Amino acid sequence: MTDRQRELSVLHADMDAFFAAVEVLDDPSLRGLPLIVGHPSPRGVVSTSSYEARSFGVHSAMPSVVAMRRCPQAIWRPPRQQRYGEVSRQVREVFHRFTPEVEPISVDEAFLGIGGSLQLFGGAVAIARALKKEVMTTTGGLTISVGVAENKFLAKVASDLDKPDGLTVVPPGEGESFLAPLPIRRLWGVGPRTADLLTSLGLTTIGDVARVGEDFLGRRLGSKLGQHLSFLSRGIDGRQLNTDREARSISTERTFTHDLKKRDQILDYLRRASEEVASSLRKEKVRARTVRLKVRSGSFRTLTRSVTSDPPTDVATEIFRLARSLFDRVDLAGEGVRLLGIAGAGLLGGDAPIQEGLFDEGIERGRSVEKLIDSVNLMGGEGSIGRARILRSEEQDRSGPRLSAP
Ligand SMILES: [Mg+2]
Repeated sequence: MTDRQRELSVLHADMDAFFAAVEVLDDPSLRGLPLIVGHPSPRGVVSTSSYEARSFGVHSAMPSVVAMRRCPQAIWRPPRQQRYGEVSRQVREVFHRFTPEVEPISVDEAFLGIGGSLQLFGGAVAIARALKKEVMTTTGGLTISVGVAENKFLAKVASDLDKPDGLTVVPPGEGESFLAPLPIRRLWGVGPRTADLLTSLGLTTIGDVARVGEDFLGRRLGSKLGQHLSFLSRGIDGRQLNTDREARSISTERTFTHDLKKRDQILDYLRRASEEVASSLRKEKVRARTVRLKVRSGSFRTLTRSVTSDPPTDVATEIFRLARSLFDRVDLAGEGVRLLGIAGAGLLGGDAPIQEGLFDEGIERGRSVEKLIDSVNLMGGEGSIGRARILRSEEQDRSGPRLSAP
């Protein structure tokens, strides 16, 4: 390994209990209380919970009914994605003050490549401290936990060790000893099954995994996973930051209280979701090269389908057309639909040159109608107008998207 890679060049930053923290920021009377963001309904799930709620055993992705049982006194707040998106953009803007190399992982988490910023800001730890402070002042009081290390894996593990408001530095060359006492579940690629297998072999810490060596792991887990875990356990991770917008996607999804059975209902939701995704794409000034559909059936089978949009799009009617064609390829075997989601991925800057003549006239017209909706909504507040109805009936539906201006 070269000296260049042996410096503190990667920072992983992760907001603390993000959605819950934003709720407390906007309503300080919630501070110190067990707060759960999500719907306390029979089929709801916990989106995020405050640290006070976590002390009762509540955690993200837990069914709401379980959370209600564990913490009956919890205060519930419905998720406000738009507001979280707003704060997320503030935080991302802070990241970019320190380096152009930002790889967003989710709405509240990113890797930062700081190799080129070290001199300017006086070193990695100084960058981490300044970043925490600026996130706090820019958002009006939110905390972020930061890990600093020589590679992505170590930085990610480090940021999680001292939450909330943590700052953990793994000095170059000390990755292996830093990881050694930690449980195997912290290794990327170790899910419940692999964890059980490793435990049955007497391996419970990352240090145990490092000690037995690659050959042993390869024989038990297959050579690919064995090698992967052997490297990680010794703190070696050669992955580069992916700061390309390709890595990002913009999505929306919803779990329904009752499984949807009727095609009309399903298409109605897909239409609304398409508008939501398209409007976010336009807000972010990007277009999606890929449209993805996620469907979960009543029996919890999750299917995803994707299709390339040519040209890349930020138009709701186009996203809907593609999502509908994807939905038609899903075999539900007679089951209802429990969850639907749409994502735009493979994001390209909206100002990226588009080959002349590629644009279909209908699509361009859709684009200008939707941009008009954006600008009116911007003036009058969100939701002041929407498209009356994009498609009039299932009949017309099949002949291709039609537009009706609001
Ligand atoms: Mg977080």
